[in-house]
Amino acid sequence: MGSTIENKVLNGERLTTQEGVHLLADTPLLELGALAREARARKTDPSIVTYVIDTNPNYTNVCTVDCHFCAFYRKPGHAEGYTHDVEGVMEMMEAADRLGATTVLLQGGLNPAIPWEFYPTIVRESRRRYPRITPHFFSAPEIHQMAEVSGLPIEGVLEALYEAGQRTLPGGGAEILARRVRRRISIKKGGPEAWLDVHRAAHRVGMRSTATMMYGHVETDAEVIEHLDYIRDLQDETGGFTAFVPWSYKRGNTPMESKVKHVAGASRYLRILAASRLYLDNFTHVQASWFSEGKKTGQIALHFGADDFGGTLFEENVHLATGHVNKTTVAEVETLIRESGFTPAQRTTLYEILRVAPGPEALDTLADDVPIFVESLRELPPEYPTVLEGEERVPGTPGMPAGGDSSTLVMPK
Ligand code: SF4
Repeated sequence: MGSTIENKVLNGERLTTQEGVHLLADTPLLELGALAREARARKTDPSIVTYVIDTNPNYTNVCTVDCHFCAFYRKPGHAEGYTHDVEGVMEMMEAADRLGATTVLLQGGLNPAIPWEFYPTIVRESRRRYPRITPHFFSAPEIHQMAEVSGLPIEGVLEALYEAGQRTLPGGGAEILARRVRRRISIKKGGPEAWLDVHRAAHRVGMRSTATMMYGHVETDAEVIEHLDYIRDLQDETGGFTAFVPWSYKRGNTPMESKVKHVAGASRYLRILAASRLYLDNFTHVQASWFSEGKKTGQIALHFGADDFGGTLFEENVHLATGHVNKTTVAEVETLIRESGFTPAQRTTLYEILRVAPGPEALDTLADDVPIFVESLRELPPEYPTVLEGEERVPGTPGMPAGGDSSTLVMPK
């Protein structure tokens, strides 16, 4: 790593676009990770790693936007399309409440048949019936859809949701904030300003939001840094982002599956995460993802600049549609954090600490209480056999061969 970059980070100076690209392209990974870990220690308690108990259900999979990276949506009229009514959403909230979730990240496709009233009603009813849960609802493209259906401006939609009780907005729909990339993978969502305008307006009406990034498809290093530039600038302007959350594209069953030849792996993830921590000098929290990158990579990410382990994600359907499956429990999340050398702490959507759990020193005494880890079932390309020679499926566990060893994973049907 150039000593200039290291000195700038240690002196709290801002990195330039060229230095950001250098981090992604040329810096030795372990040096990058060590510096990101140092930068993280200056932002949050270096002994603590937070997580949230949450779930990600969906109110509809009907969508008219046709993103090339999406395996989740169905066009209007498709036999597999579904749209829940208000009571259907409340059943999902009830299930989340029973599991102890404090955050429900609810999103859907862009279904023009849903009336405007539906959206503030599910926020209001969620707050009224399940006050322990923060409704972390609707990505930026859904806010645009609401504006179209209601005839309200973006800020008017967000004010109505705020009035109904919504205080946070998830960062989905950003993908890569670079015009060329968005033209290629999600042309109907508009340019970077479409996502940025919603988050700027959300911060203006008093909401906090997360910034996300889905990489690993058609973007260049320079476009990753362009994305980080946009959100760093907006954070300077509003201060409204709580955290940055990157994850890799999962290509299974998506329209552009055959066009993306290389799946971004753990090394790229750790590089993106560490570079983001260094570049986004005005963000307090950076999330590691056990869910999208696998539990072992998630643990290592805690040494590459992340201070948060994300959510328990009891339900998730968007990655599931690509054949990517991963599950956990609260006990396992805490053990994974402890094994990485940190003290787990449960947090709210807004990163307030709810409970600090026993730290790494408790690993021996708690060993009997935690499950055996099951590593993620990563997406496998079609050239891999679905069942490896000598393996047998365990009845009732589709996709998991006998033994559950991650080296013999099979693609879920
Ligand atoms: S990513 Fe969202 S907006 Fe794009 S097709 Fe899928 S459901 Fe629709």
